[in-house]
Amino acid sequence: MPETYQCAECQRPFRDKQLAPAPMLHDDRWAKLAEKNEWLCAECFFERADRAHCLPVTLADLMPCNFNRVHEPHSWYDLFAKSAEPSAREAWLAEASFSLGPDIPEDIYGKPEIPQKWKLAH
Ligand SMILES: [Zn+2]
Repeated sequence: MPETYQCAECQRPFRDKQLAPAPMLHDDRWAKLAEKNEWLCAECFFERADRAHCLPVTLADLMPCNFNRVHEPHSWYDLFAKSAEPSAREAWLAEASFSLGPDIPEDIYGKPEIPQKWKLAH
């Protein structure tokens, strides 16, 4: 992620390590929320998802890639896996092992967190 990257909505920069970027979604899901090359922070991602009637986001929406596993065991995968069926978790992980996806060092941005307002019901 280049140093100049920032959230397309709130303009905050991702080099501020407090800011978590949105999870990476499958292209067709992402297309409902943002342009292909746009980056969003987690907060703005959930706001847009709500406006686009794309909530709740589930594990099936997540691209099985390394990006969604950064900060394990507090990764986007872990957060969404909690409310997924075991079979869905296995399917995601099986696919993830074949998908390289972006390989991003853990210290480049904040830990993924679902904003309180959008916490999943367990
Ligand atoms: Zn934002």
